[in-house]
Amino acid sequence: HNRLRKSYPTGLGDFVQTFDLLYQLGKMMVGKQRQVANEAALDHLSQVSNRRSFEEKQRELYKTLADGWTHSLLILDIDNFKQVNDTFGHDAGDALIVQFGKALKDHLRASDFVARLGGDEFCVLFPNTPLKRATELAERLRASMPKTLELTSGVAHKLEWSGGLSEYSRADSSENMALSRADAALLDAKRAGRNRTMLQAAA
Ligand code: GH3
Ligand code: MG
Repeated sequence: HNRLRKSYPTGLGDFVQTFDLLYQLGKMMVGKQRQVANEAALDHLSQVSNRRSFEEKQRELYKTLADGWTHSLLILDIDNFKQVNDTFGHDAGDALIVQFGKALKDHLRASDFVARLGGDEFCVLFPNTPLKRATELAERLRASMPKTLELTSGVAHKLEWSGGLSEYSRADSSENMALSRADAALLDAKRAGRNRTMLQAAA
């Protein structure tokens, strides 16, 4: 320090501004990094979680089955969505997707994980929830979701959706088997006339 002081007659105080600037820049970069990570986990249209972060979350849940936890999932698909696109245009279809995602978030618990899997298909993960309880939650959701949505000004759409429920199981060889069962249950619901939720329990 003494050696330096001879040739550089400065005190630490002279660096305060520089340190402060570096600190502010660092804070900004950490904030930006967080923002980018959040955006990468979201579906750009509906602003619920995207498929990639859904897969990450379901892998995380699947791992905890070994410790005796139970988790369920619900796949939702809007009924006759294509008609909205065909009748009112793609933007109206987009508006329906956005509003559907928002309605799901508004009517579920903060601990439930809502994601858009693609197109008009969404999925809800119910952590720490057995299938029986998830069935009740799905029915409660059906009762509380809005019956109509306004897509563009003056265009009201009667909202109907079908659901498929299943539960993650330790007997499954991968987390995706529960997703396949929920998908099969969704298909059953569509075949049975839509606007209902069906379930497929683990074998
Ligand atoms: P179903 O009752 O059997 O579910 O019939 P559906 O008319 O809802 O048909 P389906 O779910 O198979 O159709 C989904 C359509 O969604 C097909 C595709 O053209 C459209 N689509 C997919 N992604 C988007 C999107 O991001 N925006 C809009 N507006 N349409 C989309
Ligand atoms: Mg559909």
